[in-house]
Amino acid sequence: MKNLWSDKKAEATVRSLRRAGVPKPLADCVHASRLLGAHPKLVRHGGGNSSVKTRVSDLSGMSVEGLHVKASGHDLDGIGANGFAALDLAQLRRLEDLNVLSDTDMLAALTRAKLDPSQSPPSVETLLHAFLPAPYIFHSHANAVLAITNQPDGKAIAEKIYGGEVIVLPYAMSGFALAKRAAAAVRQSPAARGLIVMKHGVFTFGKTAKGAYGQMINLVSRAENRLRSGRKKNIFPAARITLGARQTDVAPVLRGALYRHMPGGAILDFRSNKAVQAFVNGRDLARYGQAGPVTPDHVIWTKAKPVVLNPDDDVGRAVDDYVTAYARQFQKSNGRRGPKMTMRDPAPRVALVPGSGLYGIGETAWSAAIAADLAETAIDVIASAERIGRFAPAPAADIFDIEYWPPELAKLSTAVPPPLAGHVVLVTGGGSGIGAATARAFRSAGAEVVVADQNVLAAESVTG
Ligand SMILES: [Zn+2]
Repeated sequence: MKNLWSDKKAEATVRSLRRAGVPKPLADCVHASRLLGAHPKLVRHGGGNSSVKTRVSDLSGMSVEGLHVKASGHDLDGIGANGFAALDLAQLRRLEDLNVLSDTDMLAALTRAKLDPSQSPPSVETLLHAFLPAPYIFHSHANAVLAITNQPDGKAIAEKIYGGEVIVLPYAMSGFALAKRAAAAVRQSPAARGLIVMKHGVFTFGKTAKGAYGQMINLVSRAENRLRSGRKKNIFPAARITLGARQTDVAPVLRGALYRHMPGGAILDFRSNKAVQAFVNGRDLARYGQAGPVTPDHVIWTKAKPVVLNPDDDVGRAVDDYVTAYARQFQKSNGRRGPKMTMRDPAPRVALVPGSGLYGIGETAWSAAIAADLAETAIDVIASAERIGRFAPAPAADIFDIEYWPPELAKLSTAVPPPLAGHVVLVTGGGSGIGAATARAFRSAGAEVVVADQNVLAAESVTG
């Protein structure tokens, strides 16, 4: 993975942020965060986070030790200083003395520690950033690290790659307990410059933003090198598929079937390329394709598993079977970590269609695109994992805990959709001129746009 850091560009960004009143350490953090966010193989769609510790003025003007940490649900890609929340670090660090802290109390403590109440809620991984001593901490769900750690013997592989330089912790959901465990591990290995949480992602530390960013690229590159040594040539041996189902045959039936479980209707986002084809046409698709998410962070967008629509399947029945299985898993796991939850809509968010491709499913084109993007990320991770071994994600019960963890669910409501998401706009004469510009403007504001024009090619060039 290429290190994109340039001192010249960093200085220019920091200068312009400082002119807008952003303190230097936060400006450095913003710049490095944007670089992390620019790489889809590191983070996507609100994934990952970053922080810097520095002195901050509280509302009374008194200087206190502060933590600027990414706000929950914000994308690192293109993030600004307003994508961070400033918190009273001493207040957060005192929590480490507690033995237990419920999720509700943790969220209340994070809210209380905010130095500016008007800022967005901080990341669900804030306590980990607070308890670790390094000034700069960056976190990603790098594809290569996920491919290494979603293995039955992933811990041993990771330890072999990194030696004592990186702490490797078993999978645990984010929050207070993981933050405490991470802090204890760092105290035991103070020279460590990174921390991996199995089947979740990687944290890097540094005295400077440049150092912590460089260490992220370094650790990910070493995981990539290890994956390249995988010898398997044919990762997904193909099943015998004679004729792929056509989009025009599948999509309307799938939308109809989904409508029974998504009363607001479903928008589909179709993807197909060489990597997607190899994945969905694989003989063992039912094993690797429905094992679980590559990182728990995806699950609120993709659900734990996709639905598979084989060529001879009745699409309606396949969706209904998925819904029944989802409800069964919900009944089994509900209440195991705390109060009983209400079931989310049980419809799938990703459909895999052998011989054709995949569909991201959402209430809007925006959320359907996120589901499709994350499905493509999962394919990349699973292909790499299968190249060196066998994809083995976190157990279903752990994934349920994340899907129904209140701080994760809050992301769905705080993730800000574009202003016209969920709206459908028909533009007549939209193939050129003002019509085309209007269609593009609606599209960039998040609307679903249908372009009508006498010139079909021109219309397609606008929507394509
Ligand atoms: Zn994470």
